[in-house]
Amino acid sequence: MPHLPLAQLCLPPTATLHDALARLDATAQGILLVTDDQGRLLRTVTDGDLRRAALAGTPSTAPLSALPTAHAPHTVSLQASQRDVLALMDVQRIDHVPVVDAGGRAVDLVTRRELSQRVYLSSPHLGDDEVALVQEAFTSNWIAPLGPHVDAFERELAARVGVQHAAATSSGTAALHLGLRLLGVGPGDVVLCSSLTFVASANPIRQLGATPVFIDSEPQSWNLSPQALAAALEALRAEGITPKAAVVVNLYGQSAEMDAIAPLLERFGVPMLEDAAESLGATYRGRPSGSFGKLAVFSFNGNKIITTSGGGMLVGNDAALIEHARKLSTQAREPARHYEHIEDGYNYRLSNVLAGIGRGQLRVLDHRVQSRREVFAQYRDALGAVPGLRWMAEPEGHRSTRWLSAFVLEGDDAQARRDALLDFLERHNVEARPVWKPMHLQPLYAGCRYFAHAAQGNDGPPQVSLTPSGGGSAGRPSGPIPHDVSRALFEGGVCLPSGSNMSAAQRARVCELVTRGLGLAVRSAA
Ligand SMILES: *Cc1c(COP(=O)(O)O)cnc(C)c1O
Repeated sequence: MPHLPLAQLCLPPTATLHDALARLDATAQGILLVTDDQGRLLRTVTDGDLRRAALAGTPSTAPLSALPTAHAPHTVSLQASQRDVLALMDVQRIDHVPVVDAGGRAVDLVTRRELSQRVYLSSPHLGDDEVALVQEAFTSNWIAPLGPHVDAFERELAARVGVQHAAATSSGTAALHLGLRLLGVGPGDVVLCSSLTFVASANPIRQLGATPVFIDSEPQSWNLSPQALAAALEALRAEGITPKAAVVVNLYGQSAEMDAIAPLLERFGVPMLEDAAESLGATYRGRPSGSFGKLAVFSFNGNKIITTSGGGMLVGNDAALIEHARKLSTQAREPARHYEHIEDGYNYRLSNVLAGIGRGQLRVLDHRVQSRREVFAQYRDALGAVPGLRWMAEPEGHRSTRWLSAFVLEGDDAQARRDALLDFLERHNVEARPVWKPMHLQPLYAGCRYFAHAAQGNDGPPQVSLTPSGGGSAGRPSGPIPHDVSRALFEGGVCLPSGSNMSAAQRARVCELVTRGLGLAVRSAA
C-alpha cells in the first residue's frame, strides 16, 4: 500500500489512542498526522508514541491530546526539494516528513522508502541478445571501429525502416550534422526547423554557418504545423529565399503529418531531413517513421526507445549520399594507399562493439513499442478524468510508440500548476520533465525568425485546416487555440516516466502521485 490519500493518515486531537492504533494498522505507514479542524498539522503520532503511552498507563480511550507534548513536528514547505527532505530525515533521524502549505496545513507526506526507489523518465532496457553480440565482437577481436556488426546493424535498421541505405554514426547529432551537410547546407543558407524539439535538431544548422527559421507545432499532434510551414515558405519566397533544407522532427514517438508536409516542401523545392531520433518504431499511414525524408536520422542515445549507450544512424534511398556520409564520418579519406584528403571530414562512425548492442536492441524494438504504449494507456485510463489535462493526441493514420507519455495542462495558470506538479513529483523521487522548450524561446536562438501556427491576434480556430480531421478527440484542445502553440505546450506540458522496463507497481505509483500532485497543484496555484 505505497500511497494513500493523505486524509486517511489524518486524525483530529479528539480521536482516541485506540482509534490511532487501528488507523496505524490499516494505513501501515508508521505515522499519523494529528490535524485541527482547519487541517493544520498539530503533531505526528508514531507506533512508538502509542507504545510509550500504553507503558505509562494511559488508557486507550484517552484522546490523542492527552499524549505528552512532542517537539514541533519536523516539516518542509511545498517548495522543498527532495534533497531538503532527505537532509531533514538524516539530521532528525526520521523516516517521514510531512509537507505543509503556507497556512500550516498538512498537504503531503514524503517517506524514506520512496526516496530509495527512483522512477526514471526513460532508462535503458536491454534484451537477451546484446551481451552475446558484444561478446562476439570481443571474440572476433572486432573491437576497432567498423566491422561486421556495423554493416549488419546498418542493413537490419534500413530493412526495418523500409529504406535502402543506412550509415551508422556515433550519435544522432552527428547524423544530423552529416545529413545537413550532404544536402548542401552551408554559410548563408536558410534552413527550416521544427521549434518544439531538442536543441540537437537545430545546432548543426548554425554550426554549418546557416540560419535556422523555426516553425510552430499544430495543436493536436504537437508536431510541425503544416499551415505555419506554408506561411514560412511563402514569406521566404516573397523575399527571394529558398530554404536549403527543412528539419522535420517527429516528436515523442510520433510522426509529423507527412501527407501535408511532404508535398508542401516538394512544391517549394526544399528537401526534407527527417529527425526521427524519437520516433523509431512509429508508423504514419502504415509506413515506418524515418522513411519520409530525403534523409532521416535516428538516435540510440541512452534515453531513446532502443539504445547503444550512444549512437545514431543516417538513412535514405540515395546510395551516393549515404556512401558519402560513410566517407565523411571516417575523416573523408580518399581511396589511396597513403592518407589523402580533399574534403573536410569527421570522426563520426559508430564502433563495432556498440553496433552489436544495437543489433540486439533492434530485435526487441516491437516489444519496447508495445510496453511504452501500455504505459501510456495506463496513464490515460487512470488520469482520464482530470479536468484541464490534454494528452498528446494520436491522430487518425498515426501509430505512435509513445516514447514519452506527454500531456499539457491548459488554462491561465497552466505553468504554475505544471511547476507545482513537477516539484511534487521530484519530492517523491519521480523523474518527470517539462515538454521541450521551443527553440524560438531559447537564448541561444534569440532573434531567429519564427512562424506561429496561427497569425498573431487570431485567437479563434485556424482559418485553414491542413491536417486531416477526426480521431483522437481526447487530444483536441478544449479552449481557443493559442497563436503560439509550441509556447503553450512548453508552459503547460509534462512528460511522465515512460520506460519500457517500468514495473506495474511503479506505473501505479506514478498514476497515484500525478493525481495527488495535480490536486495539490490546483490548490497551491489558487
Ligand atoms: C535525442 C535527439 C537527438 C540527438 O540524438 P543524440 O544521439 O543524443 O545525439 C536529436 N533530435 C532529437 C529530436 C532528439 O530527441
